[in-house]
Amino acid sequence: MAKTLFEKIIAREIPASIVYEDDQCVAFKDISPAAPVHVLLVPRKPIPRLCDATAEDQALLGHLMLTAGKVAEQQGCGEAFRLAVNNGAEAGQSVFHLHLHIIGGGQFAWPSR
Ligand code: 5GP
Repeated sequence: MAKTLFEKIIAREIPASIVYEDDQCVAFKDISPAAPVHVLLVPRKPIPRLCDATAEDQALLGHLMLTAGKVAEQQGCGEAFRLAVNNGAEAGQSVFHLHLHIIGGGQFAWPSR
């Protein structure tokens, strides 16, 4: 199967500003930031959408959540940040490789639609 855009970034085939990586995931700055801090946290495993994850991915999903908090702290968000996952095109997903948006560095309204 063709590599996803994010697999190419993880493989350094496409440049990105990588801010964190470990054996399960990679975080890099969003190319079109929606806030002062906007980082994408991506599992190395190319799960297309959150709803495609299975029980086998439970530990990985937990790891992503815990890592998101660490990356937010590393990026200077303090304790104020938002995590977002767009699931499906109608919800705004444009890259079909699961990713968490880590957004911070400001005051945000809720909900956004
Ligand atoms: P989605 O819309 O799928 O939830 O989020 C995809 C995100 O990937 C968008 O916020 C978009 O700006 C970001 N993005 C798209 N192409 C690239 C790229 O080539 N490099 C980086 N760093 N981010 C990208």
